[in-house]
Amino acid sequence: MAGEEGAAPGAAQPPADPSPGSGEAGDGGGGGYEAKCVFCRISHGEEPGTALLPCEHEDLVCFRDIRPGAPHHYLVVPKNHMGNCKTLKKEHIPLVEKMLAAGKSMLQRNNFTDLNDIRMGFHWPPFCSISHLHLHVLAPASQLGFLSRMIYRINSYWFITAEQLIERLQSENTSS
Ligand SMILES: [Zn+2]
Ligand SMILES: [Zn+2]
Repeated sequence: MAGEEGAAPGAAQPPADPSPGSGEAGDGGGGGYEAKCVFCRISHGEEPGTALLPCEHEDLVCFRDIRPGAPHHYLVVPKNHMGNCKTLKKEHIPLVEKMLAAGKSMLQRNNFTDLNDIRMGFHWPPFCSISHLHLHVLAPASQLGFLSRMIYRINSYWFITAEQLIERLQSENTSS
Protein backbone atom coordinates (compact mmCIF):
# COMPACT_ATOMS: atom_id res chain seq x y z
CA MET A 1 0.00 0.00 0.00
CA ALA A 2 2.87 2.32 0.59
CA GLY A 3 2.89 5.39 -1.54
CA GLU A 4 -0.14 4.42 -3.58
CA GLU A 5 -2.47 7.03 -2.27
CA GLY A 6 -4.34 8.98 -4.87
CA ALA A 7 -4.08 12.17 -2.91
CA ALA A 8 -6.27 15.02 -3.94
CA PRO A 9 -3.93 17.80 -4.95
CA GLY A 10 -3.74 20.75 -2.69
CA ALA A 11 -6.63 20.23 -0.40
CA ALA A 12 -5.63 19.54 3.15
CA GLN A 13 -8.46 17.43 4.38
CA PRO A 14 -8.95 16.05 7.83
CA PRO A 15 -8.05 12.38 7.75
CA ALA A 16 -11.04 10.15 7.42
CA ASP A 17 -10.99 7.62 10.21
CA PRO A 18 -12.35 4.34 8.95
CA SER A 19 -12.28 2.60 12.30
CA PRO A 20 -15.49 2.83 14.26
CA GLY A 21 -14.39 3.27 17.81
CA SER A 22 -10.96 2.45 19.02
CA GLY A 23 -9.91 -0.22 21.42
CA GLU A 24 -10.94 -3.05 19.20
CA ALA A 25 -8.03 -5.37 19.22
CA GLY A 26 -7.68 -6.85 15.87
CA ASP A 27 -8.46 -7.64 12.40
CA GLY A 28 -8.03 -11.26 13.34
CA GLY A 29 -5.72 -11.85 10.46
CA GLY A 30 -2.00 -12.06 10.77
CA GLY A 31 0.89 -10.77 8.85
CA GLY A 32 0.31 -7.09 8.54
CA TYR A 33 1.77 -3.74 9.17
CA GLU A 34 -0.31 -1.04 10.79
CA ALA A 35 1.17 2.40 10.55
CA LYS A 36 -0.81 3.52 13.56
CA CYS A 37 0.68 0.79 15.73
CA VAL A 38 3.83 1.82 17.58
CA PHE A 39 5.12 -1.77 17.79
CA CYS A 40 4.73 -2.17 14.03
CA ARG A 41 6.77 0.97 13.54
CA ILE A 42 9.40 -0.20 16.04
CA SER A 43 9.68 -3.63 14.47
CA HIS A 44 10.24 -2.04 11.08
CA GLY A 45 12.92 0.24 12.44
CA GLU A 46 10.84 3.36 12.09
CA GLU A 47 11.10 4.55 15.67
CA PRO A 48 14.61 5.96 16.00
CA GLY A 49 14.27 6.25 19.76
CA THR A 50 13.89 2.50 20.18
CA ALA A 51 16.88 0.35 19.35
CA LEU A 52 16.21 -3.18 18.23
CA LEU A 53 18.26 -5.76 20.07
CA PRO A 54 19.80 -8.75 18.33
CA CYS A 55 17.25 -11.52 17.95
CA GLU A 56 17.88 -14.91 16.40
CA HIS A 57 14.36 -15.22 15.01
CA GLU A 58 13.81 -13.16 11.94
CA ASP A 59 10.06 -12.93 12.42
CA LEU A 60 10.48 -11.55 15.95
CA VAL A 61 12.02 -8.38 17.29
CA CYS A 62 13.28 -7.54 20.76
CA PHE A 63 13.73 -4.19 22.41
CA ARG A 64 13.81 -2.66 25.86
CA ASP A 65 10.59 -1.60 27.53
CA ILE A 66 10.53 2.19 27.72
CA ARG A 67 9.34 1.94 31.30
CA PRO A 68 11.46 -0.82 32.75
CA GLY A 69 9.93 -2.58 35.71
CA ALA A 70 13.11 -4.47 36.58
CA PRO A 71 16.84 -4.23 35.84
CA HIS A 72 16.19 -6.34 32.75
CA HIS A 73 12.93 -5.64 30.98
CA TYR A 74 12.59 -6.60 27.35
CA LEU A 75 9.71 -6.95 24.99
CA VAL A 76 9.52 -9.71 22.40
CA VAL A 77 7.19 -8.85 19.55
CA PRO A 78 6.22 -10.55 16.28
CA LYS A 79 7.41 -8.43 13.41
CA ASN A 80 4.03 -8.61 11.73
CA HIS A 81 1.03 -7.15 13.45
CA MET A 82 -0.93 -9.62 15.54
CA GLY A 83 -3.67 -9.03 18.04
CA ASN A 84 -3.21 -9.48 21.77
CA CYS A 85 -2.96 -12.78 23.60
CA LYS A 86 -6.71 -13.15 23.96
CA THR A 87 -7.05 -13.65 20.23
CA LEU A 88 -4.51 -16.47 20.07
CA LYS A 89 -5.50 -20.03 19.18
CA LYS A 90 -3.87 -23.37 19.61
CA GLU A 91 -2.03 -22.93 16.34
CA HIS A 92 -0.15 -20.04 17.93
CA ILE A 93 1.49 -22.17 20.63
CA PRO A 94 4.69 -22.59 18.59
CA LEU A 95 4.84 -18.82 18.19
CA VAL A 96 4.44 -18.27 21.93
CA GLU A 97 7.12 -20.86 22.62
CA LYS A 98 9.40 -19.16 20.15
CA MET A 99 8.81 -15.82 21.87
CA LEU A 100 9.66 -17.46 25.18
CA ALA A 101 12.88 -18.88 23.78
CA ALA A 102 13.78 -15.50 22.34
CA GLY A 103 13.16 -13.86 25.71
CA LYS A 104 15.38 -16.34 27.50
CA SER A 105 18.21 -15.98 25.07
CA MET A 106 17.84 -12.22 25.28
CA LEU A 107 18.45 -12.46 29.02
CA GLN A 108 21.38 -14.81 28.60
CA ARG A 109 22.92 -12.58 25.99
CA ASN A 110 22.75 -9.79 28.55
CA ASN A 111 24.46 -11.93 31.17
CA PHE A 112 21.41 -12.85 33.17
CA THR A 113 21.46 -16.59 33.63
CA ASP A 114 19.24 -17.47 36.61
CA LEU A 115 16.19 -18.51 34.65
CA ASN A 116 14.38 -19.40 37.86
CA ASP A 117 14.28 -15.73 38.76
CA ILE A 118 12.52 -14.30 35.76
CA ARG A 119 8.99 -13.36 34.87
CA MET A 120 7.61 -13.65 31.38
CA GLY A 121 4.08 -13.03 30.35
CA PHE A 122 1.34 -11.03 28.69
CA HIS A 123 -1.15 -8.45 29.76
CA TRP A 124 -4.64 -9.77 29.46
CA PRO A 125 -7.03 -7.52 27.57
CA PRO A 126 -8.23 -4.93 28.25
CA PHE A 127 -5.27 -4.37 30.55
CA CYS A 128 -2.76 -3.59 27.89
CA SER A 129 -2.13 -0.30 26.28
CA ILE A 130 -0.92 -1.71 22.97
CA SER A 131 -2.87 -4.33 21.09
CA HIS A 132 0.12 -5.69 19.15
CA LEU A 133 1.05 -8.99 20.74
CA HIS A 134 4.07 -8.56 23.03
CA LEU A 135 5.79 -10.69 25.61
CA HIS A 136 7.18 -8.97 28.70
CA VAL A 137 10.49 -10.39 29.90
CA LEU A 138 11.52 -9.19 33.34
CA ALA A 139 14.47 -10.16 35.50
CA PRO A 140 15.33 -10.65 38.23
CA ALA A 141 11.77 -11.34 39.34
CA SER A 142 12.95 -11.00 42.92
CA GLN A 143 13.84 -7.36 42.28
CA LEU A 144 10.55 -6.15 40.92
CA GLY A 145 9.49 -2.94 42.59
CA PHE A 146 6.16 -2.61 44.32
CA LEU A 147 4.39 -1.25 41.28
CA SER A 148 5.88 -3.83 38.96
CA ARG A 149 4.85 -6.61 41.28
CA MET A 150 1.32 -5.36 40.78
CA ILE A 151 1.52 -4.80 37.05
CA TYR A 152 3.18 -8.16 36.34
CA ARG A 153 1.45 -10.12 39.06
CA ILE A 154 1.14 -13.85 38.70
CA ASN A 155 -2.40 -15.23 38.95
CA SER A 156 -4.00 -11.86 38.50
CA TYR A 157 -6.72 -11.24 36.01
CA TRP A 158 -4.62 -8.70 34.15
CA PHE A 159 -1.38 -10.63 33.65
CA ILE A 160 -0.89 -14.15 32.37
CA THR A 161 2.45 -15.89 32.37
CA ALA A 162 3.64 -17.44 29.15
CA GLU A 163 3.32 -20.93 30.61
CA GLN A 164 -0.25 -20.26 31.69
CA LEU A 165 -1.07 -18.93 28.27
CA ILE A 166 0.27 -22.06 26.60
CA GLU A 167 -1.70 -24.27 28.98
CA ARG A 168 -4.79 -22.26 28.27
CA LEU A 169 -4.38 -22.55 24.53
CA GLN A 170 -3.84 -26.27 24.80
CA SER A 171 -6.86 -26.91 26.98
CA GLU A 172 -9.13 -24.72 24.89
CA ASN A 173 -8.51 -26.88 21.91
CA THR A 174 -8.87 -30.28 23.51
CA SER A 175 -12.18 -29.39 25.11
CA SER A 176 -13.85 -28.54 21.86
ZN1 LIG B 1 1.33 -3.69 15.31
ZN1 LIG C 1 2.17 -5.02 28.06
